[in-house]
Amino acid sequence: MEIVDGVHLVEGGYANVYLIIDEEGLTLVDTGMPWNAKRILRYLQRIGRKPSDISWILLTHHHIDHVGCAGELREKTGGKIAIHKDDAGFVEGRETPPAPKGAASLIFRILSPVLRARPFRPDLMLEEGGEVGGLRVIHTPGHTPGSISLYEPARKVILVGDALRFIGGRVMGPPESFTQDVEGALRSIEKISNLEFDVMLSGHGDPLRPKASEKIREFHTSLREKRLTRK
Ligand SMILES: [Zn+2]
Ligand SMILES: [Zn+2]
Repeated sequence: MEIVDGVHLVEGGYANVYLIIDEEGLTLVDTGMPWNAKRILRYLQRIGRKPSDISWILLTHHHIDHVGCAGELREKTGGKIAIHKDDAGFVEGRETPPAPKGAASLIFRILSPVLRARPFRPDLMLEEGGEVGGLRVIHTPGHTPGSISLYEPARKVILVGDALRFIGGRVMGPPESFTQDVEGALRSIEKISNLEFDVMLSGHGDPLRPKASEKIREFHTSLREKRLTRK
């Protein structure tokens, strides 16, 4: 589905996969689960593109539902993988993510042998302020240390990974049980709210538009008020 001119959502996966088209080539943002590669390649075919048109595979953070088939897609397309340097150790298998908190932890332990991506080495390490595939890298840590948002001021679009979600008509922060640093995640929401964008594309849920940045500012204010009354 084309959301904005040249910005597509590849439907049907657990986490959202986006495909961004510009003059320089095609960029995938996230890949979905390990079994998702076929679906993405089928989508390319449907819009009349070849696997070799993919220049970049950008990963918003290291979680399995976002990086699951990055290695396989690189083999099949020749696209280069980029992830923030603070999340690289997790996809390379050098670092182990902390187990989720609360009830999710049990389910996670049962499923973790199945839900493990083959380790892979990124081609490029991203940092705050970098630019790749025509997208500006905004470091928005908290959910994971190397979570990033990808911002395209020209189309007024931002892709936020799991830093923010828009599900069932509600703006939400990241799921707390899977968030490594909740305070950091709140600061990142504030950082995102200071940018100007019309459309926000999240790792889960629906596109938020129009005037998405206004809605994120309102959301951030409501969070802050809630926290003040709790104290
Ligand atoms: Zn995540
Ligand atoms: Zn996710």
